[in-house]
Amino acid sequence: MNAATRGADVNRDGRDTLSAQCPACSLHELVPIYLHRDARGRWRQLKDADALPEGTLELDACPVCFGVWFDQGELDTLGDAEVDPGLLKTLMGRSAHRMCPRGHGFMNEHALPGLLRTPVDRCPRCRGLWLDGDERRELAGSSTREGQEERSLKLAKRGFIWAAQLLTQLPVEVENPARGTPWVVYIFGGALLVLYQLSVFGIFYARDWALVGAEVRSDPRLLYTALTHVWFHADAAHLLVNLYFLYVFGDNVEHLFGRLRYSLLLLGAAMTGALLQILLASPGSPPVIGASGAIAGVLAAYLWLFPRARLLQTVPFIFVQVKIPVWVYVLIWIGCQVVMAAFSSEVDFAWYAHIGGFMFGAAMTPVVVRWRQRRVAAEVRVPSAAFFLGKPPEVVRRARAQDRRARERRAASGRPRA
Ligand SMILES: [Zn+2]
Ligand SMILES: [Zn+2]
Repeated sequence: MNAATRGADVNRDGRDTLSAQCPACSLHELVPIYLHRDARGRWRQLKDADALPEGTLELDACPVCFGVWFDQGELDTLGDAEVDPGLLKTLMGRSAHRMCPRGHGFMNEHALPGLLRTPVDRCPRCRGLWLDGDERRELAGSSTREGQEERSLKLAKRGFIWAAQLLTQLPVEVENPARGTPWVVYIFGGALLVLYQLSVFGIFYARDWALVGAEVRSDPRLLYTALTHVWFHADAAHLLVNLYFLYVFGDNVEHLFGRLRYSLLLLGAAMTGALLQILLASPGSPPVIGASGAIAGVLAAYLWLFPRARLLQTVPFIFVQVKIPVWVYVLIWIGCQVVMAAFSSEVDFAWYAHIGGFMFGAAMTPVVVRWRQRRVAAEVRVPSAAFFLGKPPEVVRRARAQDRRARERRAASGRPRA
């Protein structure tokens, strides 16, 4: 929040950051982001929240859907777009079904003709404005990392990605950083690397651990291959593609699932893929190895959680780089799997394993989403409930102590915060 609005916003317990669930996706509480104008007048996001220079603009953003809350006047301070209240066209009777993060109940939907195609959400009481991730990119571009990049650097990056994609065809996320360290991704990926290297040295022979659907059907003692085939890869390209997808899509999914549920997703997707492969693979089909069934589950979860995240992809044959939404990419991918499974008789990819893993991810994710939405709701409710009960629980006391120490550090560094 900026200097003009700050006084009104300080909570009763003296905390000045919002403790609110994202009104759009409900999957995360809003977190503060700090923007500061550099010498050339461009907004930059600050990393270090403890040393905030004069004139810092504090916004509250959702790290999952990238929506952002602007208190009254903050969007004008940003200077990307002139949102005169007179421009807002009230859509009669259109409640946004989203709650004001400052606790004023439902917001209203307003049209911004000429500025945005989609209606924005505005609280009638505090006049704060909620912009969804894609609206923020359009209307408040300089509040996004992508919008803060220098043009020349952006072009150089795009050029590099274009060249790399001509060779690899792998998609690149436009902007979807995950919070925290994705340990399961690192450990699982590391194990895959080590086991691949061991099979290269001849310590393991991957064929011994591979899954052959028809063989398991005739000899159930081979059922253990449903577990073991995951860990081996045919060649370096096969391994690297799987590691790449695991890293790009897996970090965001792990952040939202949590480590235990994310491990269950990997395991369940691999097992479901193996089961489908055992039940449906034709007698002559080749042995199956690799973690792609598990990764197909991750892809399904990513599609469900971030359908509007965008990927950079260079289109084969016409060599044009486009930004496509994830849902388009994943639907094309799963469509290819289904078509190949149905029509291709001699293939060396595990189409059924992919489809099975994808189905498991698609079934598990909605359950995890509901759990997570309830948990975030409970977490942000604690501080407000504590206020009424008069006795803050331990989490709140710790958060307050942390805030107090941060304020003291700022005061000690002699640089008052705007
Ligand atoms: Zn959100
Ligand atoms: Zn409000």
